[in-house]
Amino acid sequence: MAVCNDIQDRAHSILFEFARKLIKTTRQPIDLQPLPGNKSLHYPFTKMLNVKRVSFFYFTTIWVLHFFGLVTWGIFGICLIAYFSALTYGSMYINSKFYIKALCRAETVKNQIAFTFDDGPDPLISPQILDILKENNVKATFFLIGSKIPDNIEIVRRILNEGHIIGNHSFSHNNWFGFWNDKKITEDLKKTHSLVEENFDKKMLLFRPPFGVTTPFTPKFVKAMNYTTIGWSLRSLDTTIKSEKRLLKRLKLKLKPGRIVLFHDNMPQTVAVLKDFINFTLEKNYQILPLDELTGVKAYE
Ligand SMILES: [Zn+2]
Repeated sequence: MAVCNDIQDRAHSILFEFARKLIKTTRQPIDLQPLPGNKSLHYPFTKMLNVKRVSFFYFTTIWVLHFFGLVTWGIFGICLIAYFSALTYGSMYINSKFYIKALCRAETVKNQIAFTFDDGPDPLISPQILDILKENNVKATFFLIGSKIPDNIEIVRRILNEGHIIGNHSFSHNNWFGFWNDKKITEDLKKTHSLVEENFDKKMLLFRPPFGVTTPFTPKFVKAMNYTTIGWSLRSLDTTIKSEKRLLKRLKLKLKPGRIVLFHDNMPQTVAVLKDFINFTLEKNYQILPLDELTGVKAYE
């Protein structure tokens, strides 16, 4: 699973960079500096790009060119490549809010952030993460893979007992999740939802898509499950960066108010840097808040 995640993460990084260069008009909200007051942190144009508008623009362009007899195979091919590049970019980059308005950061200028951990519960790594969080009195959010819950039920109990939040990160974390239709995804998500409800009497409301991939189906199944989609605005890249020094450097460089930090609680290098990063945030007078407190989102029904 870790190897698959690694390959997928690398592929995402390469394709994302490629797509980002193609769509130069799109700015990453995560790179913007916070504005004074409580103003929006996004450029208006970023908000304008979504699947409906891009599709409308594409089909209108083709129709107009066709109307004036200007569609050659070359022009049609270029338009098609641009269109599918935009769709791929939107699918891979949850921050683009291309298919759904995922919650990726808090609109705040205060030195406050939240920690999230994906892909657990892991019998080896999750308890070590929980120890560090407990020592430093930090409350985090764990997006759980349902298929791992039955064998690690006591770890999930500990997560909840120690005041952390849990959310749905699918049951299967299947590599083809992004290609499934809404019916198949809803069935998958319901398995994790029911497992948590039966064992811990919690009806989860937070969802993080596996690999951060969103598709035209995402709004449909998210609505059916009554979930809020949670993205991130500081990706640690702890599944790809093996060097603890580089990992810590990246985290320190990207620390900004309101960020939702993405870690994985099945990676040993995350354990290695977590305490140092918490200490760094304290030195910089940051508060690490629970996700619901930072963003106002509701975690359970
Ligand atoms: Zn994941």
